[in-house]
Amino acid sequence: MRFVAGAATDVGRVRDDNEDAYLVDKRLSLFAVADGMGGHRAGEVASAAALEALRASIASGDSIADAIRNANAAVLEKASDDSELMGMGTTLTAVVPGSEHGVVIGHVGDSRAYIVHDGELEQLTDDHSLVEELVREGRLTHEQAEVHPQRSIITRALGIDAALEVDLVELPVQTGDRILLCSDGLTIMVRPAEIASILRREAHPAQAAERLIDAANKAGGDDNVTAVVLDVVDVEPTSEAEGAVAAEAATAVLDEAPDIDEHPSTAPAPSEPEPRAPAGRRRRALKMALIALPVLVILVIAFVAVGWYARRTYFVTFRDDQVTLFKGVPGGLLGWDPTLELTIDLTRDQLTPAERTPFEDERRFGSRSEAVTFLGEVADEVEAREREKGRNQREPREGGATTTTVAS
Ligand code: MG
Repeated sequence: MRFVAGAATDVGRVRDDNEDAYLVDKRLSLFAVADGMGGHRAGEVASAAALEALRASIASGDSIADAIRNANAAVLEKASDDSELMGMGTTLTAVVPGSEHGVVIGHVGDSRAYIVHDGELEQLTDDHSLVEELVREGRLTHEQAEVHPQRSIITRALGIDAALEVDLVELPVQTGDRILLCSDGLTIMVRPAEIASILRREAHPAQAAERLIDAANKAGGDDNVTAVVLDVVDVEPTSEAEGAVAAEAATAVLDEAPDIDEHPSTAPAPSEPEPRAPAGRRRRALKMALIALPVLVILVIAFVAVGWYARRTYFVTFRDDQVTLFKGVPGGLLGWDPTLELTIDLTRDQLTPAERTPFEDERRFGSRSEAVTFLGEVADEVEAREREKGRNQREPREGGATTTTVAS
């Protein structure tokens, strides 16, 4: 199986820095998107470090799940060396060849993978985000989630904890299929129907990636936006010109990376997932939550062992300056330590002194939803303030006709 790839990334129209990064490595047939977070440009460092470690790990023959865990370790290690980088993190969504006629997608965070098959767009990954949790709990509809002001808060990322749960999606593909990897800067601004229309319309992956970025910016460009588009083809492009376009558009973020052994594009498949046939006419991604989670085990043990009080109590705090929700009580109860529940893409320096107080005081909540609602309100305030700041720093555009899809 071979791919023709095109990719594009842009800072958007509100942010000052681009913390997104992508990786297109044709020799390894490795493609990835990472969306970094953290103050003082730490997000840029996190996304670049994750992709560099991912590539090195895949090049050494690791499975995609192991490579993402190695990338997590690399981000954690980098952050531990430098106080400016403490608390940085990144999403990571990557695709590699899988079994003979398939690919495997490894995924953490709220970047996404989609496939266009027979003209139909299908989302392949689940967002690890606050609103997606609320959708799964039945508290929000998908339509409400799409415009929810807290939709950029993620609940799983690289760089947060040494134990990392990686989602794996194994997917059979055939010639003519088109795969999209993108950061949330695309999906919060552009509805799936328009994404599908662009992916169907644009013949070349590089042009499709550019048009997707254009669409996000036209809708307001509230966030950094990145798209990697892959076409599944029978053979490599034969014309020199076409190959050159693909190569140029697919500039990897890691230009200085050393040469690595050439892998055939049908690289050995990661061994964990079992190949499976498509179910039904419209194929469904087979999603496998791999990995035993020490964190989950601890949660289960704690749930059984401690009393009602500890089970029902949550508290918010700063952990490495990152806004964090713990289950349990500060300092532990009956010897059981609190367990990490959520890490939010907000750092201490983004909060006003008044907003910091509940986190410094480790405010307790009687339920998860109460705590999540509180975190959402804080995030709303910060987001509104930062968006206002971003807009004020820009000249009014000609005609003043900027549009945004963000609910106020
Ligand atoms: Mg983003």
